[in-house]
Amino acid sequence: MRSPNDLELVRLTKRYGDTVAVDSINHLFAPASYVCLLGPSGCGKSTTLRMIAGHEAISEGAIVLEGKEIGHLPPAQRGTAMMFQSYALFPHLSVKDNVAFSLKMKGIDKATRIRKAMELLELVAMAHLADRMPAQLSGGQQQRVALARALITEPRVLLLDEPLSALDPFLRIRMRAELKRLQRELEITFIHVTHGQDEALALADEVVVMNNAVIEQAGPPRDVWSRPRTEFVARFMGGHNVVTVDGIRYAIRSDAVRLGPEGIPATTTGVEYQGDRVAVTAMTGSDEEVVALLPEEAFFNAPLNPGDAIHLGWEQRWLHPLHA
Ligand code: ADP
Repeated sequence: MRSPNDLELVRLTKRYGDTVAVDSINHLFAPASYVCLLGPSGCGKSTTLRMIAGHEAISEGAIVLEGKEIGHLPPAQRGTAMMFQSYALFPHLSVKDNVAFSLKMKGIDKATRIRKAMELLELVAMAHLADRMPAQLSGGQQQRVALARALITEPRVLLLDEPLSALDPFLRIRMRAELKRLQRELEITFIHVTHGQDEALALADEVVVMNNAVIEQAGPPRDVWSRPRTEFVARFMGGHNVVTVDGIRYAIRSDAVRLGPEGIPATTTGVEYQGDRVAVTAMTGSDEEVVALLPEEAFFNAPLNPGDAIHLGWEQRWLHPLHA
């Protein structure tokens, strides 16, 4: 269903001289959803985000929010807000004043803006540190402040550019749960740029995979992961092999590949212990590399070493045809 607070990109294009950074993309974002823009470095994710935010001029196309074309409005008038990777907090302002800053710019009186800033700091569990300076905060705390500062403008869409990349792996997993909780609580759309597949799968209601300046595939994480449309998506999302059977290219999940007495002859080329599973890499006679993910118990009942001859098999139903 089309709702008035949908965000829509219409033939959105960005050129830098001869480089096409974003090539006429179309996308309708579901209202109040958590969307991850995913793709390798240089595919156009940040440029897309910056165009939505208004930090980058668009070359062609339109950005429509709540039925209104916002593509040429200044950032503060769009109904969007952006949280930067570097957080970009003002070092000379306290936490509270950082969060209240945009309200000050709008000429809102001090009592109101401080009350509002404290509400937002409450939301991100940072009210107790409201009088600290940014340099006195950890990375995770700075990020919460940056979030509060972006949210104080009551955006319809929050744009996050690699928001977790500066955090250590442990904190990253904690913060991503926080982000998801916030998005659910606020019931607004979050568009989160990442190059991490795990992050996108864990967070998103919708994953939008970009490659070479275009959207390669978009959908719920489970659809994109388990039914990749193209070889690029299959390889980029991971957990799949790409195999050729009777001249047709298929994706097959690594955990659906079986080793047995019959099947396609192959030679083991690598064994990687992953804790709950063991990844066995093998080269087939037709020089295709296939990874089989085996439950660790199954592997250790019949351990393999590089050089061992094996047979690879799978049920037909796991073969998923790919488009060129
Ligand atoms: P991503 O965020 O997916 O890593 P970007 O959107 O940053 O990709 O970049 C997409 C393409 O546009 C790349 O080829 C990049 O080199 C180019 N690009 C990005 N910003 C600029 C710029 N300011 N000037 C020239 N080229 C740029």
